[in-house]
Amino acid sequence: MKRIAVEEAFVTEEIAQEWKKVLASKFVEPGFRMMGQTILGDDPGARLVHSRLVDIGAGRIAQMDADGIDMAVLSITSPGVQAFDAVTATRLAKDANDQLAAAVLAHPTRFAALAAVAPQYPAGAALELHRASGLGMKGFLINSHTMGEYLDDRKYWPIFEAAQALDLPLYLHPREPSPGMVSPFLDYGLYFAGFGFAVETSLHAMRLIMCGLFDEFPRLKIVLGHMGEGLPFWLQRIDNRYLLQVKIGAVKKMKKLPSEYFLDNFAITTAGVMSGPALRLSLEVLGEDRIMFAADYPYESVEEGVRFLDTVEISEVQRAKIYSGNAERIFKLA
Ligand code: MN
Repeated sequence: MKRIAVEEAFVTEEIAQEWKKVLASKFVEPGFRMMGQTILGDDPGARLVHSRLVDIGAGRIAQMDADGIDMAVLSITSPGVQAFDAVTATRLAKDANDQLAAAVLAHPTRFAALAAVAPQYPAGAALELHRASGLGMKGFLINSHTMGEYLDDRKYWPIFEAAQALDLPLYLHPREPSPGMVSPFLDYGLYFAGFGFAVETSLHAMRLIMCGLFDEFPRLKIVLGHMGEGLPFWLQRIDNRYLLQVKIGAVKKMKKLPSEYFLDNFAITTAGVMSGPALRLSLEVLGEDRIMFAADYPYESVEEGVRFLDTVEISEVQRAKIYSGNAERIFKLA
């Protein structure tokens, strides 16, 4: 069975060096400081992850062969260029896209790529999307908040205008909770990928739904990793309480229910979630056409992710769609 993995991380050496400068400065977002200690350390584990992140050539393909992955959709790892000033971020996003395009050109049957953009300069990000589309990118990825700001702010909407016009899906990828809400997450490791990332990113997705973005850009496609960051579980209650808030005049009525925007404009990936109950719930809520496989290399065990999707109790038609068919359609990989 053909396997396409759609949330596969990479970084350029220069972005990693710039992260270290930010981490050494006085003005570090508290969540990013914690992240830096965890993944940018000098221990053997962190060094291995780093060497895997920067390899978008022969080494990565050998690992894909060993893991049984036919194609990897590459994207910039968290927090990407979003920790930098606008000028640095715009330059390094462009450079990352050039490196991604070269890797895809060298291995067109094994790699596809999602573009990096710098939300700090929305007009520049929109321009970069046009350039990235010309380079053959299949979508773009943003690592949730940018300096504590969310994309529902209208100043960012030139990015969505370009995304809809070019039909490029946005992969809204997690990062640590924004400075405005991170404090209670800093204890017990809760800021990290097991919980805080999903709280942050599902909040971001809900802000996009509730601000009316999809009434303005009805053909926009958003992809969420990690089984939809928990949202498939919440949708019924979100609708129910939204209707109450509309009734008492606490929120403005939208054209559709929150869950309808989720079903019409979102797709999700398995990335790092290896739970049969979570996958079957998502299949029941979203249907079998908007769930894709992702391994989240090099952070998760690809072997474990493959073993999970090879053996989880779903139909063979569902398995094939999740492993490749849906990604081929949503990211236009064929
Ligand atoms: Mn990831």
